[in-house]
Amino acid sequence: MLGLASDKYVQASLVNVYAKVGSVQFARKVFDAMDERDLICWSSLLTGYVQAGLAMDALGLFREMQLNGVKPDGVVLVGLLLACGVLGALDLGRWVHAYAGKNGLGSDVYLSNALIDMYAKCGSLERAQEVFMAMGEKDLFSWSSMIAGYAIHGLGAKAVGAFWSMVGNGVRPDEVCFISVLAACSHAGLVEEGQRCFEIMVSDYGIEPKVEHYGCMVDLLGRAGLLQEAMAMIHSMPMKPNAIIWRSLLNSCRLHGNIELGKWVLKQLPKFGPESGSAQILMTKMYATAEKWGEIPSIGCGKPAKTPGCSVIELDGEIHEFLMGDKVHPMSEKIYEKLDQVMRELRNVGYVPSVSEVMFDIEEEEKVGAVGVHSEKLAIAFGLLETPEGMAIRIVKNLRVCSDCHFATKLISKVFRREIVMRDKNRFHHFRDGSCSCMDFW
Ligand code: ZN
Ligand code: ZN
Repeated sequence: MLGLASDKYVQASLVNVYAKVGSVQFARKVFDAMDERDLICWSSLLTGYVQAGLAMDALGLFREMQLNGVKPDGVVLVGLLLACGVLGALDLGRWVHAYAGKNGLGSDVYLSNALIDMYAKCGSLERAQEVFMAMGEKDLFSWSSMIAGYAIHGLGAKAVGAFWSMVGNGVRPDEVCFISVLAACSHAGLVEEGQRCFEIMVSDYGIEPKVEHYGCMVDLLGRAGLLQEAMAMIHSMPMKPNAIIWRSLLNSCRLHGNIELGKWVLKQLPKFGPESGSAQILMTKMYATAEKWGEIPSIGCGKPAKTPGCSVIELDGEIHEFLMGDKVHPMSEKIYEKLDQVMRELRNVGYVPSVSEVMFDIEEEEKVGAVGVHSEKLAIAFGLLETPEGMAIRIVKNLRVCSDCHFATKLISKVFRREIVMRDKNRFHHFRDGSCSCMDFW
């Protein structure tokens, strides 16, 4: 099929084109068929992996590169840093930083921006700030990465402060930047600040709010107990509210004990149609027992998962990946034994595995029935087995952490006297001595 492509220039440009349009499997095929590959081929494929969200493959390719004695350039390093951020691979990220410094790439804007992103996502906010401060010229992405970093660490006031400094420096925020700052306000309960940002987004910058912006505002108002205002925001939307918005409002109703409005929100949910999959099933079930918050029996598994829950943990520079309920890891047997032991000890201190709460906040993609083997539980069991006592366990989860895993992790941090740092889709959770830095808002 690819027979025509024996010329090395043709091959090289095919790798580049396939990688750019997201056909990384094809790019890889051509790449593997090549006799000699220059740096551009390696970097196109690596960037292709990163853009396709295949961070593990990107790191794997980088290892091959090293084995082949190919020295990375700035483009490869930026790609690597983005992959490290996705996976929470702090050790490798630090190595890239040092390598860039040694090779005179330290002052490159793209690289610095990628470093800010990597450090913030790997939990090292101080290093992110250092890189940010040391930059001569900061562009929109430098500011946005820093603001997003503050947001995922729950530091709303700092995010807002950075936002105004950015504006003061004449940098024009874009819609993505506004999502970060609004999310930061919502996590920190900064209602007025959030409302002001939302207003100027429209009035000063002419940005039409997208469903994500409305989602942040509904969350912000709802969490603060301003449920009527949250409802008014929903009514003002020119588009249909999505499941995330309803879920957020439902959570706020639950937090503030407004069962009447909660019931009304539940009525809105079954209208979603088939695309909401398992959410549809669990919402219907939930509706039936709406009066009894949190007393819903297990409903087993919903539809097959779209995006499986996945947690990664870095150990001595190596990434270990866990999917929900998987038994692929070479230490699988020991991990499940440890998980059993952990759960036994948690039950001794009053933990009851529960899927009822989970129904309110579980990602649509994740199976409710499999809550006991959610990927973060496996990763924590592995972390407890393989890291020395007293060392913090750091985990990155691709979806939002469910309330059962959140509760279990709080207890584990107390019972096993371990600090656990978990980054989920939205933010960081620092679990210590039985509580979490998110104050149970996430
Ligand atoms: Zn979970
Ligand atoms: Zn938390």
